[in-house]
Amino acid sequence: MELLIRNGRLVDPDDVARESGEIAIRDGRFVAVSEISQETATVMDVAGSYVAPGFIDMHVHVYEDGAVIGIDADRVGVQQGVTTIVDAGSTGSDGLARFRETIIDTHDTEVLAFLNISRKGLCDGLSELADPADLMGVDEARTAFAAEPNLVGLKARMSGSVVREQDVKPLVHARMVADALGVPIMIHIGNPPPYLPDILPLLKKGDIVTHAFHGKEHGILDTNGEMIPEARDALTRGVLFDIGHGSASFSYETLQKFKGKYDEAFTTSTDIYERNIETPVGSLMTTMTKLLQLDYSLDEAVASVTSRARAALGLHEQGTFALGTVADVTVFDVVDRKMALVDSNGEVRETVKVIEPKMTIKSGRVVWKA
Ligand SMILES: [Zn+2]
Repeated sequence: MELLIRNGRLVDPDDVARESGEIAIRDGRFVAVSEISQETATVMDVAGSYVAPGFIDMHVHVYEDGAVIGIDADRVGVQQGVTTIVDAGSTGSDGLARFRETIIDTHDTEVLAFLNISRKGLCDGLSELADPADLMGVDEARTAFAAEPNLVGLKARMSGSVVREQDVKPLVHARMVADALGVPIMIHIGNPPPYLPDILPLLKKGDIVTHAFHGKEHGILDTNGEMIPEARDALTRGVLFDIGHGSASFSYETLQKFKGKYDEAFTTSTDIYERNIETPVGSLMTTMTKLLQLDYSLDEAVASVTSRARAALGLHEQGTFALGTVADVTVFDVVDRKMALVDSNGEVRETVKVIEPKMTIKSGRVVWKA
């Protein structure tokens, strides 16, 4: 099976695309255009549209029968131009086998996961780290990671409502487990306690802070719009910031202030689930559209869901056009249209350019078309 994508405007964060501007695919992988037969290949003319490596959304909740908030993986995946999604802690070790069976194995979208440091995951309500007895031990974690190749790290939610009187203790425990296994931790930040000056020093290079640009008090910026020292130090150590839009965790104002003073790259993700897909989140492309509204370039927005996400997740195949890697492709349009988009704080801003999905190719196969 050979496929040739022609006449697209390539957005190629790694700058590895072929000079011809054409993308060739054979047997599910990217190959050089010269390697496929122009006579027998299926040619797709995508003139006017943009063509990028398959988008990665590193914070979603898709455990439909496991967590109350879960949404269908393909609805927020390939049907929205996203080829790889990462469920961020919906499941702990208790629900992992069923997550494989009912979610990973049954969708066109590639589903990876951060494993909740609580055995229960989000399944039993939203204070999963309040009882130390629920925390997964090193041996259990090792067993889980050995059994499930799609795990990319651990998830620990550091909000008062999640940890109750445990403060940072669940994160200290997650740190110990993550170090023993050599995997990163994605932490969620929200309403304290625990406070960021106690949380951030526990993070190491490669760990991810999702909801980094929330608009609540006690965030990464102080009242003057400067990063608090612990946030600056964390970035210097190689800790990564991620958007994780969600119902309550993305503020235009916070990201705009950050952008005004700092160049540090971040990843874009949605924290999408059943209750926020209509508003305020919409989709990964809607979240990227909000970046355009804040004057980020299209290249930046695409890099934040491809090359950067790949690096953050330690992936090798996804998010690139590199020859020999799995042929995941996102075809999209940037439409000139006025649209009012709301952030998690209820602030509405009007954008004049909207990113919209057009076609999704997963492992060389067209799995969705607008
Ligand atoms: Zn989440």
